[in-house]
Amino acid sequence: MTEPLSHPLVTSAVKLAEELDSQNFPHAALYVLATPIGNITDISLRSLKILGMVDAIACEDTRNTAQLLKRYGIEKSLFAAHQHNEQEVAEKIIQRLQNQERIALVSDAGTPGISDPGARIVHAVLQAGLQVIPIPGASAVATALSASGLLSDQFYFAGFLPSKARQRDTVLTELAQLKATLVFYEAPHRILESVNALLESYGPDRKIVFARELTKLFEQVHRCTLGEACAWLAADAHHQRGEFVLLVEGAPPSSESGAIEVERILKILLEECSVSQAANLAARITGEKKNTLYQMALNFSQHDTDTN
Ligand code: SAM
Repeated sequence: MTEPLSHPLVTSAVKLAEELDSQNFPHAALYVLATPIGNITDISLRSLKILGMVDAIACEDTRNTAQLLKRYGIEKSLFAAHQHNEQEVAEKIIQRLQNQERIALVSDAGTPGISDPGARIVHAVLQAGLQVIPIPGASAVATALSASGLLSDQFYFAGFLPSKARQRDTVLTELAQLKATLVFYEAPHRILESVNALLESYGPDRKIVFARELTKLFEQVHRCTLGEACAWLAADAHHQRGEFVLLVEGAPPSSESGAIEVERILKILLEECSVSQAANLAARITGEKKNTLYQMALNFSQHDTDTN
């Protein structure tokens, strides 16, 4: 067995630590720092360096952060910065930064400000003319997307859906025409209800990906259609447990309502332009194929001539 101190990881860490020593870590700056979302070793050397060097750490829950620091042998002064005290904590942080301190801001897991406290503190610090430095790391949304297998090159992060059915349905209706992959965070006790609502709003054909317990022992990424999703959740009690990211395929390119909208645009353009101009413009507006639109425009204008 390799001796711990001669382990290749230790050798590289020592070399990289020397490199870190030559980097710049300004005073009077707030370091917004991402922490692991499950696997405690998912943290960068730069993050550890900063956690070790700052004057204090503002944490969503000091007990959680204390546990993380303990694993890395870091002792630091901690204070709470959660959704109920963000405003007053922002003032405290600003004062300390004005005294040339370095402060780190962390949440319980992942990146602060992403469905977590932090945004108001960052805003206040910037308003006070002070520096905010992002220290990247884990976030459940990026982790889930990277393994989803969904092909869209755009995504819309919707965070948690509202818990009240009416508000939730309003949000789902607003998102219905988006072609981008839809990404939601969800809690285990609401997973079934939310997936049912997704099925009702978007029908059975769209793909859904359940990214569950990412980076943890029981990590699972399950891909199916919305029509199959409830059966999968019901098939095993474990399927409804833990932390979830839900990814839902965006609206199909020529959904019925999309087709109606294309038709409407084309007909308006035909009132003012020739068939080929209308097809060209409609292609630019809707992103549909020019040839298809030309054929449609031809049919509409032919139909108009026949009926006049
Ligand atoms: N700020 C965090 C981030 O950057 O991902 C998110 C915090 S939010 C309060 C917590 C939610 O993120 C969970 O309810 C779940 O939807 C998602 N999440 C966090 N960790 C996760 C994990 N390991 N696997 C799947 N989802 C996770």
